Amino acid sequence: MQLNQLTIKQAAQKLANKEISSVELTRACLARIKEVDGKIKACLTVCEEEALAEAKQADERRANGETGDLLGIPYLAKDNIMTRGVRTTAASRILENYIAPYDATIIKKLKQAGAVLLGKTNLDEFAHGASTENSAYGPTHNPWDLTRVPGGSSGGSAASVAADMCLFALGTDTGGSIRCPAAFCGITGLKPTYGRSSRFGLVAMTSSTDVPGPLTKTVADAAIVLNIIAGKDERDATTVKIPLTPFIKGELKNLTIGLPKEYFIEGTDQGVTEAVEKAIEKFKELGVKFKQVSLPHTKYGVPVYYIITPSEVSSNLARFDGIKYGLSVMKPPLPPLSGGQENGLMEIYTKSRGQGFGPEAKRRIMLGTYALSAGYFDAYYLQAQKVRTKIKQEFDKVLEGVDCLLTPTSPHVAFKIGEQSSDPLKMYLEDIFVTGASLAGLPALSMPCGFDKNLPVGLQLIGKRFDEGMLFRVGQAFEEATEWHLQKAKI
Ligand code: GLN
Repeated sequence: MQLNQLTIKQAAQKLANKEISSVELTRACLARIKEVDGKIKACLTVCEEEALAEAKQADERRANGETGDLLGIPYLAKDNIMTRGVRTTAASRILENYIAPYDATIIKKLKQAGAVLLGKTNLDEFAHGASTENSAYGPTHNPWDLTRVPGGSSGGSAASVAADMCLFALGTDTGGSIRCPAAFCGITGLKPTYGRSSRFGLVAMTSSTDVPGPLTKTVADAAIVLNIIAGKDERDATTVKIPLTPFIKGELKNLTIGLPKEYFIEGTDQGVTEAVEKAIEKFKELGVKFKQVSLPHTKYGVPVYYIITPSEVSSNLARFDGIKYGLSVMKPPLPPLSGGQENGLMEIYTKSRGQGFGPEAKRRIMLGTYALSAGYFDAYYLQAQKVRTKIKQEFDKVLEGVDCLLTPTSPHVAFKIGEQSSDPLKMYLEDIFVTGASLAGLPALSMPCGFDKNLPVGLQLIGKRFDEGMLFRVGQAFEEATEWHLQKAKI
């Protein structure tokens, strides 16, 4: 086995035993990136020199007696997470040359833990999408089949983990962006509870649902990364000081898992349904009891999500005005502070935004501005918020009676590049099984549970608020009883 193929847990063991060094591990990942990323296109930036310097430092820290699960472990971060000194583009032209002056809190925490940043991964521009085709720098290709999408928006992160370019990657999930690509690429992805991991230093998409989290090769690895990145952050007022629930390894007897009937519907590919049903059978063998439950507001998940998120997007993207950040059409001398005329502020705004944003970002800005505008606010935004509350209450109620919920992550496996990009509505419907947990702020994990048409199928576990520990327990028991997570894309 090559070093880059190791899980975090395996590599940490070898590092602790001094069988390998972080420099060797980092070199193996960098070599793998060189070998396959020309075809996959998962990385937007690779910082080879900095990575090797960090790896050397990690080795020195270890030689001085320091220990830690992530000390010396190489990873990639989605390019909407700020990294001091390393370009952060959010896959947008408007931020093409943007270098953040500070690290996101989660990057800072990983640095303190000694993890080694290899580079930044591709995404749908500003994380708007479910396929990574909306990147201004071209799509990422799925390692299982290069003609297909890796899912999105954290497609570069998922593809890089699936192709063993790194030991883990960071993503962000606003409405499925960690879970969908994890499912399409056959790996594990965790969206933590909203408020569990700090949003400080993310390029904000939808501040009320954005959550950063890990994409990993195993469930145990996801727990290791969450352990480091979780926690209250003074710079993100929505983070809370609630300890992580313990990750109890062990029996699943006495557990009850809910199957929401609205997630087992017509329109889901038969191969996906079969894989998920087989997984349910496996869980039964492990002693789990299943209970059918109902979440009747599920059908409003996608419509509500596509009112609330564009509304927040239109506000969050207002800062990219050609003055403060990134791309600007401003020509010296400085314009007068009046809009309208040639070279006036208004012209700078409109031209910079017109050139800098791609079509999907523009679509969302328009949808959101409309939903928030006087006269429509009550009918769209306010109404959507009310339904969102219903969705949340419904989840909380149902979760009182079970330990967690199980659903497919996506109604089908990875689709062909270009197959859906001309139809935004169809693309939005991709999110049918993932928006609910996002709107309700609940933790959710996607893990591989089989194949359909030779492509990975993902199953989703949705947990009680702040109970990621239960998802790890259930997920790991499944992993121990199956071999889906050991299957590798041949590339
Ligand atoms: N598919 C969702 C969207 O396009 C995912 C976004 C996300 O989670 N960042 O909005």
